[in-house]
Amino acid sequence: MTITRFAPSPTGYLHIGNLRTALFNYLIARKTGGQFILRLDDTDRERSKEEYVDGIKADLDWLGLHWNRVERQSERLARYSEMADKLRAEGRFYECFETPTELELKRRKQLNMGKPPVYDRAALALDEAARARFRAEGRKGYWRFKLDHERIEWPDGILGDLSIDAASVSDPVLIRADGQVLYTFASSVDDMDMGVTHVVRGADHVTNTATQIQIIQAMGGTPPAFAHHSLLTGPQGEALSKRLGTLSLRDLRAQGVERMALLSLMARLGSSQPVELRASLDEIADGFDLSQFGAAPTKFDPADLWPLTRAHVQSLPFDAVADRLAALGVPDALAPDFWAVARENITRLDDLEAWWILCRDGAAPVIAPEDAEFVAEAAKLLPPPPYGPDSWAEWTAAVKAATGRKGKALFMPLRRALTGRDHGPDMSSLMPLLQKVPLRG
Ligand code: GLU
Repeated sequence: MTITRFAPSPTGYLHIGNLRTALFNYLIARKTGGQFILRLDDTDRERSKEEYVDGIKADLDWLGLHWNRVERQSERLARYSEMADKLRAEGRFYECFETPTELELKRRKQLNMGKPPVYDRAALALDEAARARFRAEGRKGYWRFKLDHERIEWPDGILGDLSIDAASVSDPVLIRADGQVLYTFASSVDDMDMGVTHVVRGADHVTNTATQIQIIQAMGGTPPAFAHHSLLTGPQGEALSKRLGTLSLRDLRAQGVERMALLSLMARLGSSQPVELRASLDEIADGFDLSQFGAAPTKFDPADLWPLTRAHVQSLPFDAVADRLAALGVPDALAPDFWAVARENITRLDDLEAWWILCRDGAAPVIAPEDAEFVAEAAKLLPPPPYGPDSWAEWTAAVKAATGRKGKALFMPLRRALTGRDHGPDMSSLMPLLQKVPLRG
């Protein structure tokens, strides 16, 4: 069975980049009837917050990316230390004592000599007496994984065949001096224990993948199939990392972006298939093909979400918005007609409110000085509400007969006088919805 996972660290709210990762993993599981795990990478006690755990779940819920189960790394610490002991016993973990300053110095020296800044494994040469001396100095040891110096290769689901020389990578620190288990290790243990079969994540994890393949193999497990999607950039190709904070899913949602717009865009952006609005996650899963995605950075323009949101909103049947209209106070008898008229004129469901206020209270007339006399005369010819489907035609015919105006010069000032705007629904359909008309005084 296919098992995938989405593994956010609960140190912030989900943003558009996370959505891509979550969606791809969800879709792979969904397409094959597999399982999708929500794994919270929360071994960093200081930065992980329950508020973000709740926020992440709420965002995924809203999107409809339902998980089969939740796993928390903070609840698996005993298992990690068991695996750490095993790797220590096998000589794959070694204790290091260099301070960050010492490591920085080594790095600079290597760079000065034109060498890649790979950790020199000096700690491997320490004997027990040397380690005891460091401890006596008050230093605390931390643990690195000893990579096998060979090429690490895997067929990447997006990037194709990858090959990384392990000697070009520093032995990763997996356990900090304060005992904190780092993500690289915890994730390897989890992927192995949970039988994860496919991992899709950002291209910034490629080096992690190389080391995690060796870590999983060292523990006796079989690494999952990996795929690395490109990172998102802004519309001009600029790094998005600094703006991701303003592109949180909760902010986009609060702005009125529809979930199907987000999901439809992110399931296709960066692939060779066109972006098409879909009505359900099932439809999205049907057309999803990981192999269609490319390695190049993917340009994301939040503005692209609006035409999709608009198309989605306008496609909604009355039933889908009935509750929302009731909450706005639209009377049941009027609601279907109101929806039929208003839907053509909105981008976001939130825009309904302004149209409803217009119908309920009427708009303050907007009258250009040169139209003042004309509108005053027209107002006298306007009967009080309620109006029917013929009211607009009857009124404008009467005004035309009385004033001799026609065409745009006739209709536009009257539209402005009734709605306070230049644009909006067809007036014949709108008039029957008007409950009050301030123009009549
Ligand atoms: N917590 C990691 C991250 O958010 C997970 C990466 C992974 O999918 O393994 O980057």
